[in-house]
Amino acid sequence: MKAYKIWTVLLSSGCAVLACVSTSQRDVASTATQPGADPEITAFIGRIRAVDNHSHVNSVAPGDKDADALPLDGIAPFELPAPLRPDNPDWLAAYKALYAYPHADLSDAHMREWRATVQRVAKEQGDKFPTWVLDQVGTEVMLANRVSMGPGLAPPRFRWVSYADPLMLPLSTAVEAATSPDREKLFPLEDALLQRYMSDLTIASRPQTLDAYLKTVVTPTLEAQQRGGCVAVKFEVGYLRALDFAAVSTATASGIYAKYARGGEPSHADYKALQDFLFRFIAGEAGRLGMAVHVHSFEGAGNFFATAGVDPLLLEPAFNDPALRKTNFVIIHGGGVHAGHTGAMLWKPNVYADISLMTLAYAPARLGDVLRDWLTQYPEKVLFGSDASALGPDMGWELAAWIATKTGRAALALALTHMIRDGEVSHARAREIATMVMRTNAARLYTLALK
Ligand SMILES: [Zn+2]
Repeated sequence: MKAYKIWTVLLSSGCAVLACVSTSQRDVASTATQPGADPEITAFIGRIRAVDNHSHVNSVAPGDKDADALPLDGIAPFELPAPLRPDNPDWLAAYKALYAYPHADLSDAHMREWRATVQRVAKEQGDKFPTWVLDQVGTEVMLANRVSMGPGLAPPRFRWVSYADPLMLPLSTAVEAATSPDREKLFPLEDALLQRYMSDLTIASRPQTLDAYLKTVVTPTLEAQQRGGCVAVKFEVGYLRALDFAAVSTATASGIYAKYARGGEPSHADYKALQDFLFRFIAGEAGRLGMAVHVHSFEGAGNFFATAGVDPLLLEPAFNDPALRKTNFVIIHGGGVHAGHTGAMLWKPNVYADISLMTLAYAPARLGDVLRDWLTQYPEKVLFGSDASALGPDMGWELAAWIATKTGRAALALALTHMIRDGEVSHARAREIATMVMRTNAARLYTLALK
């Protein structure tokens, strides 16, 4: 998920409704303790310091621009699922939890007061604001999927996840961009980011051969990102095409590259084959450099998003590539509606899944069912995540982080409670699994030294 202008869609309806929400509908405690969850496991999970596998946390730089490579501001406004709308009572609960908001309503006067509080806290905390947020929500380490890091986002509390998509798109993207109104807006952002990567390497124009492109642009960019502290590279490519990355020979890919290196519009078939080759090359390089590969898989976002194209089963040929077995893949957002297929991919020795965005878009009961399916199979492959990002006015990343963390903990408690009650795991094993999901699976995957 990514930041976009939610307010263009929802401001008129959302804020009016928000004003009459009562805290009694769903307060902090009720989010943490869903009916049916074992109080002991709920309390245990509440105390675990989390590693958050995925976020677009903001730096404290004014007008922070690098939080997402594909911010969806430019695409057609779209309706969010109800849990992400400003009239969801979780936002009010987050105001209370993070900023001690004293009111049970969101009247204009009270909201003005609240915005002043937000500004005061940001000023008081300064560069420490992002770390202050992590302390409030109980997160020890947050992975930051950003174009670059920025002030306030230093290791060890924040770890960088860069973007690899632009490296897959060295040729003109005009034909690809014409495949949907949203892609028309998104491809130029990838083109601009590739230019930025090349100018970081002081390369003025596209190398004339694929070999030169790999050696002077792709590998040096990934090496620079790794030196810059990246623990993973992220593909948002599901916004741009389907995830069916076939095996394509170097000779075929080189021929296609050479054909269009001096200009011209590659056919869709040619460009797909070149992208397929580059995806696998990049994944292989990431593995060589000790970085995981994150892949977006969810039913959105946007009015033209192609959900069938992000089915994790489409990634199976790449997962099965013997040359990529040193690369660890993480299915980000757990595949969303394809969560059962994500569970099937966890059979691969190098495939993981996180629950980011599900923790914002799904209710704890639904996410609990997803988790139970995965945890009965591969508990060591499942990672907590938030997808915390700025979702609009009065919906900053810190509030999303608080909501996602509460929902994730509640869903995990539900899943483990059901597994205990059905005699599948002991209390002790449930606590072990909870710790793995919330922090130690990620610590092992990224070799993080946790406190
Ligand atoms: Zn995201």
